[in-house]
Amino acid sequence: MPERLPPLGGDSEYLEGITHEGLRGVLQQVLERDGAEREFMSAVHEIIFRVPWLDDRGQLQVNRGFRVQFSSAIGPYKGGLRFRDGVNLSIIKFLGFEQCFKNALTTLPMGGGKASRSRRAGGSDFEPKGRSDAEIMKFCQSFMSELYHHIGHYTDVPAGDIGVGAKEIGYLFGQYKRLTRCHTGTLTGKGLEWGGSLMRPEATGFGAVYFAGELLADVGDSLKGKRCIVSGSGNVAQHCAMKLLEEGAVVLAMSDSRGYVYQEEGLTRDQIMEIKGRRSGRLEEYTSPTAQYVGDKGRRVWQLAIPVDMAFPCATQHELDRDDAVALAEHGCKYVFEGANMPCTPAATKVFQDRGIMYGPGKAVNAGGVAVSGLEMSQDRIGLQWSREEPDPALHEWLPVVQVDAKLRGIMRSIYQTAKAAAKEYDVSLAAGANIAGFLKVAEAQLAQGAV
Ligand code: NDP
Repeated sequence: MPERLPPLGGDSEYLEGITHEGLRGVLQQVLERDGAEREFMSAVHEIIFRVPWLDDRGQLQVNRGFRVQFSSAIGPYKGGLRFRDGVNLSIIKFLGFEQCFKNALTTLPMGGGKASRSRRAGGSDFEPKGRSDAEIMKFCQSFMSELYHHIGHYTDVPAGDIGVGAKEIGYLFGQYKRLTRCHTGTLTGKGLEWGGSLMRPEATGFGAVYFAGELLADVGDSLKGKRCIVSGSGNVAQHCAMKLLEEGAVVLAMSDSRGYVYQEEGLTRDQIMEIKGRRSGRLEEYTSPTAQYVGDKGRRVWQLAIPVDMAFPCATQHELDRDDAVALAEHGCKYVFEGANMPCTPAATKVFQDRGIMYGPGKAVNAGGVAVSGLEMSQDRIGLQWSREEPDPALHEWLPVVQVDAKLRGIMRSIYQTAKAAAKEYDVSLAAGANIAGFLKVAEAQLAQGAV
């Protein structure tokens, strides 16, 4: 039976729902003393601040900013910033908690060590949608005016998440530089011309497909011809859909928070590009002579009554519940891979287990984003940009030639193998295997440093 850990801080509807099958047993093996899991799972810093800014009408707006740092045992704090209406401390804590295991799974060679990530998350209840560029810039500058006290190249390195893309990272980085007078790699997801890495925008979506490819190959199957539903139409969803097409799969539908677009024979590359072009707008404004838009009205994209082989929830937490999981099972779905953070409810994952659907958990499947952020940090430190696919002849012979795409594939393969090995060793599911493998890395580093 899955075991339920105590909720973090006791204030989270999300965290209360988390079950960590087998994790308590592993914790006790490592710690050998009662109650210590609470110490491990508690955030070290919870930073909450006001973000005042002037809107285009000259009126004062005040939002709330958050920053949660859990552990820096294996490297600087690292994770996304989310700007979205409704963001609160509870959401930021669940994101930071998940990030902990994800970062530990990336296994990046940094300096002389191994993985060099740690867990943290941040964000604000500011909603960029519907705001002008000038308003977004003013908000970002005010947000960074407080945040910069708590971050740094070797301390804490934020990245994007929902509502934080290249534009927001640019405004945040500009303000960080203005305040510190340092051009360092303190944020990832930067523009290519000013310290960013090739493939950071694609990394999470591509990585999810690479992970899926690894699992399918392991069970003697392949992505070719697989009928897939992808939820969301943001950064992760778009790149996941594009990579699925490249691998020969069929993308039946994509969605946003109000509805979905679907096409029986699959969306084309051009259609996905057009949907991508609508990023700042609504999917309902997307028009096509062949694809249909369906307003949500309580029946989510998962309930689409057509044969489906695979689902990639790439939008947000708890977007796929028990009824959605049952509908997917009834329509023939055999695999679910979480591109988003915790999109499937515990009741949904129970249905997957009962109906024999293979399930890849978010902390493993979507780790490609933070992995390439890690590569961006390495490039910032040595002051070079690595190539996407081909070796860069401009690099010195003695410097490592890194092809970011090959590196990402290798990292996703290693994450799959690590989770699978832990699942086998502890006789648990792949999801629990990912939890255990990630947890052990952090716990062992904390114990070695006398941090508990
Ligand atoms: P974006 O802001 O780029 O896109 C989010 C998308 O999800 C939008 O299309 C949004 O639609 C849609 N959406 C939001 N809520 C719902 C809902 N309830 N039902 C259906 N669609 C919805 O965010 P990202 O693509 O960057 O992030 C998506 C997920 O992936 C998040 O869970 C994030 O934490 C996770 N993730 C992201 C990483 C990254 O590198 N960006 C890394 C690892 C994880 P609308 O426009 O209507 O709001």
